[in-house]
Amino acid sequence: MTKPKVLLTRKLAEPILAYLQEHLDCTMWDQEGSMPRAELEAKIHDYEGVMLSGGPINASFLEKAPRLRVVSSVSVGYNHFDIEAMRARRVIGTHTPYVLDDTVADLVLALMLSAGRRVAELDAFVKQGNWKKGGVKEEQLFGMDVHHATVGIIGMGRIGEAIAKRAVHGFDMKLLYHSRTAKPDIEARFGGRFCSLEELLKEADYVVLMTPLSPETAKLIRAEHFDLMKPTAFFINASRGQTVDEQALTQALQQGKIRGAGLDVFELEPVSPDNPLLKLPNVVTLPHIGSATDQTRYEMAKLAAHNLVGALTGGKVHVVPELKELVEA
Ligand code: NAP
Repeated sequence: MTKPKVLLTRKLAEPILAYLQEHLDCTMWDQEGSMPRAELEAKIHDYEGVMLSGGPINASFLEKAPRLRVVSSVSVGYNHFDIEAMRARRVIGTHTPYVLDDTVADLVLALMLSAGRRVAELDAFVKQGNWKKGGVKEEQLFGMDVHHATVGIIGMGRIGEAIAKRAVHGFDMKLLYHSRTAKPDIEARFGGRFCSLEELLKEADYVVLMTPLSPETAKLIRAEHFDLMKPTAFFINASRGQTVDEQALTQALQQGKIRGAGLDVFELEPVSPDNPLLKLPNVVTLPHIGSATDQTRYEMAKLAAHNLVGALTGGKVHVVPELKELVEA
C-alpha cells in the first residue's frame, strides 16, 4: 500500500523521523532552520500532510495544496491557522498541548523573578563594572518581592494552571485569575479567585498574560488597562505579542504607570532593534523561548509526528478545538 506523502519543514531527531517513515512517505528539509516559505509554497502541491510551526495557513496557501489533509503544528498556539479557510477545505489542524506546560510556566516564573528582582538589569550593572565601593546607594538596587505577592493570571488554561501551581505552592503567592469561564478546581487546589479583568489589573503585583491569540484577544490589554495597574506592578507576557497594544505598554513603562515588564513575545518577531522597549532597563526581553528546551522541543516534535500519522492513518490526534468536527464526522 502506498504511504501518504508528507513534508517535514525542519530537521527531526532520528527516532522521530524513523517513526514517521514507518507510516508515511517523508520529505524532510535537511538544512538548518526551517524550510523557507517560498520553497514550502512551491512544494506543497503534491503533499497530503505537512509538519511546521508557522504560517499563515490560509486560503491562498491552501489553493497551492490541493491534496493537503492535515497541517501538524509543532506548537500549542495555532493563531497561524486560518480556521475558516481550513474548515472550508476540510484540512485538519493539529497542535501540541500539555507537553510544554511546565517548561513555559518555568519561563514565566523566570520572567517574574528577573523583572521583580531586576536580575537582567543588575547582571549588566555588575558586568559593566558599576559595582564598586562608593558607587550607587544600596537602595538603588532594591527590587520587589515575588513571594507572598499577588499574581493575576489572564488565561487560566493548561499553562496558566502550571504557573498557578508554582506561584502558590512554590512562592506562597495569592492567586487571582481571569478567563472566559471560572475554574472551580483551580480555586479548590490553589485557593485562587476568579475575577474580572479590571479587578485583576487593579490588585495584582504581577499580571501574567497567557491567553491564546484570537480575534477576541487581539490587543486585549490596552492603554486603559495599564492605567488600572499599580505603579509598583509588573506586566509579564508569554502569550503572543499581538495580545497587547505594544505602544500602550511602552508608554505605560516610559511614564512610570507600571514598574516593569517581562516579555517573551513581541508584536513583530524577531523584534526590531529600534523597538523602544529594548531601551528600557526595567523590561526583561527574551526571543520567544517559552517552550525552548531540548527535552520539550523533542516531546513537541514527537507529539506533532503522532498527530501527523494519526490524522493520515485514522489514529488519535490533538486536533485544535475549532476543527474537532473534521475528525468526529
Ligand atoms: P489553553 O489551555 O487553551 O488556555 C488558554 C486560556 O485562555 C483558557 O483558560 C481560556 O479560557 C483563556 N482565554 C481564551 N480567550 C480568552 C479571552 N478572550 N479572555 C480571557 N481568557 C481567554 O492554552 P495553553 O496551552 O495554556 O496556551 C496558551 C497560549 O500560550 C497559546 O495559545 C500560545 O499562544 C501561548 N504560548 C506561548 C509560548 C511561548 O513560547 N511564549 C509557548 C506556548 C504557548 P477558558 O478556559 O475559559 O476558555
